[in-house]
Amino acid sequence: MNPRRVHILKDVPATRGPVLYWMHRDFRARDNWGLTYARLQALRTGQPVAVIFCLAPEFADATAVHFNFLLDGLTQTVHALRQQNISFFALTGSPGLEIASFARKHGAGLVVTDFDPLRVKRRWHEDLLSACELPVHEVDSRNIVPARVVSDRREFMARTIRPKIKRLLLEFLDEFPELPAHPHDWPTAPPEPDFPVLRSKIRNDAPRQNLLVEPGEQAGQAVLHNFLKSRLPLYAKRNDPNQDVCSNLSAYLHFGMLSAQRAALETQSCGLAGEHVDSFLDELIVRRELSDNFCLHTQSYDTEDGFPAWARESLHKHRNDPRPVIYSPEELEKAGTHDPLWNAAQTQMLRSGKMHGYLRMYWAKKILEWSPSPAEALRTAILLNDRYSLDGRDSNGYTGIAWSIGGVHDRGWTERPIFGKIRFMNYAGARRKFDVDQYVRTWIAPQDDASI
Ligand SMILES: Cc1cc2nc3c(=O)[nH]c(=O)nc-3n(C[C@H](O)[C@H](O)[C@H](O)COP(=O)(O)OP(=O)(O)OC[C@H]3O[C@@H](n4cnc5c(N)ncnc54)[C@H](O)[C@@H]3O)c2cc1C
Repeated sequence: MNPRRVHILKDVPATRGPVLYWMHRDFRARDNWGLTYARLQALRTGQPVAVIFCLAPEFADATAVHFNFLLDGLTQTVHALRQQNISFFALTGSPGLEIASFARKHGAGLVVTDFDPLRVKRRWHEDLLSACELPVHEVDSRNIVPARVVSDRREFMARTIRPKIKRLLLEFLDEFPELPAHPHDWPTAPPEPDFPVLRSKIRNDAPRQNLLVEPGEQAGQAVLHNFLKSRLPLYAKRNDPNQDVCSNLSAYLHFGMLSAQRAALETQSCGLAGEHVDSFLDELIVRRELSDNFCLHTQSYDTEDGFPAWARESLHKHRNDPRPVIYSPEELEKAGTHDPLWNAAQTQMLRSGKMHGYLRMYWAKKILEWSPSPAEALRTAILLNDRYSLDGRDSNGYTGIAWSIGGVHDRGWTERPIFGKIRFMNYAGARRKFDVDQYVRTWIAPQDDASI
């Protein structure tokens, strides 16, 4: 395994003891560099290895829908780990502190953990580092080219990170090693993870959503295979929300139930080539890894401070422009605007847990147009996306919203009221691109009295 995937968070002499892998972003047993690294370290030192998960019942604006999706997927992961003689322990509470206390109690020799640039995860890591005397190694299993390797600065846009990623793909887009079942047993029989008890800790606030996808690693693989066979050949039509040609992989990638590296390897070997494959790999690798680059190098990735200077200045200049229509976050949440396309997009997200990618841009830009200030628009868009999108609470979400409202990774466009130089999108433009009426009929008209 390429040692450049590993970043040492705490460099103290190793002691003899089991190796713990703290899984908090990449929830999968296969194709997982963090787990692979933990297993290799345990093999080298002749120690058992265990996966530790800690439920933090309050996480961003996650609802019970998200927690249940995660826990349902985890039950499959636990089963797959058991077949590899890897124990699994589920904890609840303040994650960094709980992991440190577990490591102490079990005399661990090393803690391996997932890379994640979001602030909440950095705090968890800080808690662990301050409470534990062991070496702690972080592994980037989310990105094909590790975010800490690809660039040591915030990249301007896709055009600037693309060549850096491409140069390193030869080195990092490699196969995962096949490892035998782990030969060293955990000293005692680990207890069955008590999923009902975990579920009882989750706030009972689930909106009623008919999710488009099933949870778990197996379902993620199945959706990938189905996409490669039947929808990838049509991927050039992905900006038409009436066509079902996108991959629908974002929830699996967000919860780490599918490895982006596995998806890229299988795309390369699926027998197709050309425009569709190139576009998909560009989204999956370049756009996605650009998001982690943005959050890694921008502490304030979810406030106006994270916008580029030209965008901040331009939005500031237009802060007092009259806003013909203003909606409160509650009106927006209920899809109660005068714009049928926006309402349909919001309804798609409310009902299915996913809004079409093209409309996510339109949706966020309209929130800018209809909010008293860019700061409030940003807050509302993040709140709604994190609460209702299955793939929300993700660096892709913070970056996509910052792109739409704050010009991140974009350039200045023709200046206009409210938006300043931020790229504008409107209803007439959407009508030129696709059949808006059909999309609105799909999400609003026939289901008006549906239960949500
Ligand atoms: C306002 C706004 C909010 C967004 N919120 C999220 C979010 O919360 N979570 C999320 O995963 N993505 C988000 N995106 C990015 C993108 O819209 C989604 O990744 C995409 O809609 C997911 O559907 P899919 O898997 O079918 O996409 P596909 O078109 O099949 O793309 C495959 C994968 O490539 C990646 N990808 C595609 N487009 C982008 C992009 N623009 N930026 C980064 N990665 C991309 C995703 O991982 C996606 O799953 C947001 C974009 C915008 C403009």
